[in-house]
Amino acid sequence: MTKLPPSNIHSNRILLVEDNPGDARLVELYLGESDLSSYLIVNCTSLQESCDLLQKEEFAIVLLDLSLPDSRGFITLERLLSQAPDANVIVMTGLSDQELGLKAVQVGAQDFIVKGDFKEEELVKSVRYAIERKKSLRRLAETQRIAGIGSWEYDSSSNTFSGSAQLHRILNTQSIPKEDLQKDIKDSTSPFFLFNEIHEAAIRNRFVEKDIHHKTTDGREIFMYVKCTAETTGDNTFIFSGIVQDITERKQAEQERLKAKERYQTIFNNSKEAIYVCSLNGELIDFNPATARLFGFDKEELLQEEDIHAFFGDDEARNRMLGQLRFHKSVREFELFVNQRNGNVRNVVVNASLVETGDQIAYNAVIRDITESKQTEELRKARDLARQSAQMKEQFIASISHEMRTPLNAILGMSNLALKTELNPEQFNYLSSIKQSSEILLGVINDILEIANAQEDKIDFEYKDFNLIQLLHSMMNVMEYKMKEKDIKLELEIADDVPKYVKGDELRLNQILYNLVGNAIKFTDDGLVKLSVKVLNKPEGHSQIQFVVSDTGIGIPPDKHDAIFETFTRIRQKDRLYEGTGLGLSIVKSLVEQQGGKIFVKSIVGEGSTFFFDIIFEEGQAPLPELEEEVPGEVLTDRLPDDKCRILIVEDNRLNQLVARKTLEKQWENVEITIAENGKVALNHLEKSPFNIILMDIQMPVMDGYETTRYIREKMPPHIANLSILAMTAHAHISKDEKFKEYGMDDFVLKPFEPKQLFRKILQYIK
Ligand code: ADP
Repeated sequence: MTKLPPSNIHSNRILLVEDNPGDARLVELYLGESDLSSYLIVNCTSLQESCDLLQKEEFAIVLLDLSLPDSRGFITLERLLSQAPDANVIVMTGLSDQELGLKAVQVGAQDFIVKGDFKEEELVKSVRYAIERKKSLRRLAETQRIAGIGSWEYDSSSNTFSGSAQLHRILNTQSIPKEDLQKDIKDSTSPFFLFNEIHEAAIRNRFVEKDIHHKTTDGREIFMYVKCTAETTGDNTFIFSGIVQDITERKQAEQERLKAKERYQTIFNNSKEAIYVCSLNGELIDFNPATARLFGFDKEELLQEEDIHAFFGDDEARNRMLGQLRFHKSVREFELFVNQRNGNVRNVVVNASLVETGDQIAYNAVIRDITESKQTEELRKARDLARQSAQMKEQFIASISHEMRTPLNAILGMSNLALKTELNPEQFNYLSSIKQSSEILLGVINDILEIANAQEDKIDFEYKDFNLIQLLHSMMNVMEYKMKEKDIKLELEIADDVPKYVKGDELRLNQILYNLVGNAIKFTDDGLVKLSVKVLNKPEGHSQIQFVVSDTGIGIPPDKHDAIFETFTRIRQKDRLYEGTGLGLSIVKSLVEQQGGKIFVKSIVGEGSTFFFDIIFEEGQAPLPELEEEVPGEVLTDRLPDDKCRILIVEDNRLNQLVARKTLEKQWENVEITIAENGKVALNHLEKSPFNIILMDIQMPVMDGYETTRYIREKMPPHIANLSILAMTAHAHISKDEKFKEYGMDDFVLKPFEPKQLFRKILQYIK
């Protein structure tokens, strides 16, 4: 179907399809004399020719003779209309047949005139009316197209359905074959079957108006607004007329809007932040559940509140916020307090903007509760501060202990030396006390250093085979000696399945047991101190071993069972004072826990205490015998190899220099000691004279021990570079970090040194 632009309604051409020249001439004459003279009459003589012309051009009217050379009778009209459905046709026939005329109009012709029987006015009137009618039909169709409204009519008596062009456009039925379009609309395959239901509803109510959803022939889902009336023509037959408007876009937009609204509603309802709209007087217009929660109400209760601003912080802050809102139309990140109904105070941040709602000015606000994050921030600050001060404490402890160990070294060394001189019994006692007290003081300093490390999780544990049974027995032997003056029995009970050899840190286990058994003896005057050892579990290749130290001593009050494991906790005992720093158990706890174990106490005041702890050890084997193992009470009789044995001592502290010199000279007659007060002086000595071994302090002015050793090893001739160098250090952790090895030292001796250990190391390394 050719779609012609609206301007073609105004075509001024008339197509006259007439093979009889006389008839044609008559029509031309009549029309030429009428006010239709401005129309150009195009005459053609066959149906085919007329169809071809209609395909190409627009004619205001077609005057069609039904008897043409290539077509005769009523079919001529049908053929022409099937080729040019839009054509505006007036049928001309030789017969005066009213039935035929009616039929022609029903099929789509505008009018019917009988040739040779019409008058000029009659022809002109018919042509003019047909032109005008067509024009207004065109206008109507155009209007429908612009409005997107289509129309239909259905006559139930003849079962004829006719739809406007716009209806076909909406339903996409333009290109459907004619026979399908003409199907009974009650047939479910009819493209207009959808109207069936509407017609039935219209019969019931005379009038129907509704939105319907429909799937078009090309598969599109559309929405239509439909209005339909039913008029009865008697005999239970009806004529239905209706309009259809395509409202798909509107519907989709509406659905989108609904979806968006739902989305925002979900956000609004589920938001943790309070969101509300409120007048500047504090009257709530809309709010989400979080708002009610923030103020501490339920929804209905909050609706009763007249002024929610009354819950905001202090008057000054509230007025400032509302003032800013008025003048700047918004507030950003405004911090203030909300006083909840239950009296709690929340720290909040408000973001709000002014909005005009109808006749009143309101604002919308989003309120974030920052109480918790504020608290976390404060906690973080406090934690940082605590860390900082812990670090400072650690540094302080480390340096103070170092400072204390150096003079203590001298005191211990000097006492050792003095005790070897001739003394009367009184002097011997005084000196022994000095030595003993110095040893206790050294223990305290070591504990302080140890706790600083334990708290920082800085302890490195050894992982070596050792004889557990032997360790337990020698621990008991040492303890026997501790309780000489007391009336206590000491017992050791080892379960049969406790493995002899295990892998782990022997020294640390010793330290733990020493502390626990030591405490048990310290806090028990009579009765029994017992160490029991058993296996709790045997996970593959391992043993979870439990150690239980029980005593019948003074006991620990129940509220102190946790506190005693903290640093510097000592329980005050009214009638007596026990020596101690309150550090032992907290070191023990760290040592146990850092090896994956647990420690706890059960105790009844006046009856005794029992400490339990467990550690998982891997099963071990007999350790390789250590060559240097210390034999208690051993007397060193080894002599130094050479006639003259030259030892270079590099040490800045004068007292320590003296202790070292005297200790060595007393042990060996053939020793020759040279003292250098720092590394630089030592290098001078080394260049000038031969030596057999070097004892090197680490911390020294001018050039320290590490630097000096490196210089000797890297820059000096081989006979000097290959000398043994023993580090002398007050630093208890030197053995752990093995730094001395990195710098090229062979071994180390700890200050204050155990003379025997010093002699043994010298004998081992001297060249
Ligand atoms: P201290 O060096 O003072 O002994 P500890 O940390 O070893 O420090 O012990 C802390 C405190 O726990 C002790 O001062 C003591 O009051 C209590 N305590 C520890 N062991 C026992 C025990 N076996 N019996 C009674 N009290 C104990």
